[in-house]
Amino acid sequence: MNNNSKYWIVTDLDGTLMDENYDISPAKKTLEKLSGMNIPVIPCTSKTAAEVRYFREQNGLSDPFIVENGAAIYGSYKNNSSEWELILGKSYYELKVILMSISKKVNYHLTPLNDLTKREIFELTGLSDNGILMALDRQWSVPFLNPPDSIFEKVKLICNLYNVHVFKGNRMSHLLSSESHKGQAVKRLKDYLHNKDVKIIALGDSQNDLPLLEYGDISIVIPGKNGPNKYLQNGIDNGSFRLANASHAQGWSNSVEDVINSFKDL
Ligand SMILES: [Mg+2]
Repeated sequence: MNNNSKYWIVTDLDGTLMDENYDISPAKKTLEKLSGMNIPVIPCTSKTAAEVRYFREQNGLSDPFIVENGAAIYGSYKNNSSEWELILGKSYYELKVILMSISKKVNYHLTPLNDLTKREIFELTGLSDNGILMALDRQWSVPFLNPPDSIFEKVKLICNLYNVHVFKGNRMSHLLSSESHKGQAVKRLKDYLHNKDVKIIALGDSQNDLPLLEYGDISIVIPGKNGPNKYLQNGIDNGSFRLANASHAQGWSNSVEDVINSFKDL
């Protein structure tokens, strides 16, 4: 990757670049254009490293990637033979113990994704066998079934006691160390690549993207079919975030095209 890039596209995947069927086809042309302009596209997702490696391979991406909601960052060395790794979080096992303690405190069983049967995971995610194996390869965060909103709010409050925090994605919630979130990970990547002046074009669709959108220089909310996520509405209303004019990959493509058309000075 070009370390002197003036801009990075840092993007969530599920619900942002991908729709609920994991389709990104409306954004393909824009991705090619970005590659031609040497603008890195950095996935920043709740997915695991195994899932993102596969995604990059399928879509011809080679830039660094942020996984498990900001808990770890990976990138390839120039010859592509090996990877570097930065870890921001606590281990899966440490977090799982904490999740169980929080469950007791809120008197509601918070169910880790990894405790579900294959069938249940398929129903929740639509993932196939191999997709499920990659999704369960968690190292630095614990995804769990979304509890009702009232329980989620209680969980958020209790997290401070354990030095962790929770984020809500479309399909599930995620427990992470409080040292790690998507915004923190982008900051760490900038330091690591010695590119403190790079401008971040951030794209996301859910509450777990809030730290990324808050960190971005140009921040774009991708709405779902029923409009933007309620946790991101405030940033749209106060003008901090732009709202894409279509959902998922189409909205992603339209917004990114608008941004790149606006910097003809590249
Ligand atoms: Mg998302």
